[in-house]
Amino acid sequence: MYKSHNSKVITRKKNLIKILRRELPGHIFRNIRMIGQLADEEGFSAYIVGGFVRDMLLGRANLDLDIVIEGDLFRLIDLLAKKVNVSVVRHRGFGTATAIFADGFKIDFATARKESYSHPAALPGISFGSIEDDLSRRDFTINTLALQINKHNFGRLLDLFAGADDLLQGVVRVLHNASFIDDPTRIFRAIRFEQRFDFNIEKNTERLIRAALKQNMLRQLSKFRIGDEIILILKEDEPVKSLLRINKVCGSLKFIHPAIKFDKALVGQLKSAYRIIQTFQKTYTDKPLDSWLVYLSILLSALGSDSTDKICRRFCLVKKDIKKINTLKNRAKEVARALSKDINLSYVQVYKMLKPFSYEGLAVILSMTESPLAKRRINLFIKKLSKIKITLSGQDLKKLNLKPGPGYRKILEETLRAKISGKLNSKSDELRFVKERFK
Ligand code: ATP
Repeated sequence: MYKSHNSKVITRKKNLIKILRRELPGHIFRNIRMIGQLADEEGFSAYIVGGFVRDMLLGRANLDLDIVIEGDLFRLIDLLAKKVNVSVVRHRGFGTATAIFADGFKIDFATARKESYSHPAALPGISFGSIEDDLSRRDFTINTLALQINKHNFGRLLDLFAGADDLLQGVVRVLHNASFIDDPTRIFRAIRFEQRFDFNIEKNTERLIRAALKQNMLRQLSKFRIGDEIILILKEDEPVKSLLRINKVCGSLKFIHPAIKFDKALVGQLKSAYRIIQTFQKTYTDKPLDSWLVYLSILLSALGSDSTDKICRRFCLVKKDIKKINTLKNRAKEVARALSKDINLSYVQVYKMLKPFSYEGLAVILSMTESPLAKRRINLFIKKLSKIKITLSGQDLKKLNLKPGPGYRKILEETLRAKISGKLNSKSDELRFVKERFK
């Protein structure tokens, strides 16, 4: 065993059965063995590939299993479905399948494939090939490691491109010099892996990135593919590091949109958002927060609404997320200012101001202000005001002989506000309030 540069334990051993047994829950390990044996019966070779093997060697938890089959994948999948209780999704045209086990655990399968590019930056053409072909089409040496699961070679590491050495040295290295021309999204992938693992992009690889950028390869990429890569980066634990690196390598972030000025103020706000997200996730473990949406909203904050809409479509955001971004665009500045400047705001006013925002929106507003008063108010809203509920229901209003209809919502909202302002402590207080106010 050796210590890699970032002190994770990795191994030079050629058989990783022990590590595999340690990393995988017992029932998954047994399923993998069984899949290897099914492959043996048909004379196929089977390998776990890619991110799982890389992360296993780095001692990082990862249960995203990708298995590559040299042989007829769909025959193997049929055998698997006969043997155990799995539901299977087959994509025959792509030569891939997903098996979902009874406990929900998922394994992705693919037939070993060969790739060809009709022109630079195009999506590749695919044909079936050997495991060597399959590993040769991959992006970086650290992602080319494969672990055989056939019975006789169970746990054997296949390392065609010295990927284990690069893991050990902490290096992101392409397999060939045309890699970024074939697929410029790899520029972002290289930076994402480099920053995630605290590695370095190897010198020649960095030179190739700069050469591809000089040839304007990013322009050849569809905006959708750029969007996918940027979102993947924003989903990392520390995306600001990667954005800084991209800005350095590419000279700006204008390839996302010309109005994005990645200056000190924007970086400062993104860093502040990082700290806010950390605290939020530790404090409010029950409130899920899409941190990438916080960063994206901040990145897009200088854009007008038309440009924002365009980017949201290019990034294929769902309606709910577009709405969160637009609410921020329309109201965040004014709300942040009022929360920090207006010392006389009542609880109800704070509630009314912050209610339209998602948690992501609240995190963005927090990142916009240094004011302790505004921060206190936002935290008060999250911890207390947003949780206050009234006990009255529509049924209660009916019993009071109030005419059912859209007016009910208004009555309940007003009752809620009265409760937030501290006037109502019990259900009978609420009933009295409604009787007096709406009779
Ligand atoms: P992550 O931990 O981010 O999921 P991963 O390595 O599993 O990392 P995926 O994007 O799921 O990354 O890709 C799975 C594998 O497919 C990678 O390990 C890599 O070998 C290969 N791959 C993905 N994208 C590319 C690409 N653009 N060019 C070449 N190979 C790629």
